[in-house]
Amino acid sequence: MPKLELETSDEQQTERLGEALASGLALGDVVLVAGELGAGKTTLVRGACRGLGVREHVTSPTFVIGARYAGRLPVSHVDLYRLETLAGEDPALLADYIGPDCVSFVEWPERAGSALDSEQVALRLAIRHDGEDRRAIAAEGEQRLIDALAAAAAAR
Ligand code: ADP
Ligand code: MG
Repeated sequence: MPKLELETSDEQQTERLGEALASGLALGDVVLVAGELGAGKTTLVRGACRGLGVREHVTSPTFVIGARYAGRLPVSHVDLYRLETLAGEDPALLADYIGPDCVSFVEWPERAGSALDSEQVALRLAIRHDGEDRRAIAAEGEQRLIDALAAAAAAR
């Protein structure tokens, strides 16, 4: 799978990278976003949702594992932080948010165990703190999405 390493130096840049992704995303795509608390996962997803035409304000779902939004394409945003592991949970938990009818973003994907293995993962992102407001973002996935990210980074 094609890979790319990126850096951002503030919140807006991370949001814009997410926004740029939107142009390459298609129905059924699953985007996994890994990284510790405060890395910028939700920031990036917020930008992607904006790029997909979502008008609601996107925050991390708190009392539920996910939220669905209407945009140019239907979008879902899942945050598995509070889930120790999906093993033993109802597999239908993810089925409400992931499928051929929407674009899905999943924060804390590692907590899903193998439940995400069979899904159509189009892109894996891993965000790391890199001092103050700097973030290092590793991307691996479909060429069309790597291209969208590279174009956004080159344009700034
Ligand atoms: P996560 O979802 O990974 O827990 P959030 O996106 O909710 O993280 O929060 C990221 C926090 O880090 C925000 O307070 C944001 O303002 C701050 N921040 C600082 N620099 C950056 C950056 N380069 N990219 C993204 N967020 C940043
Ligand atoms: Mg978050």
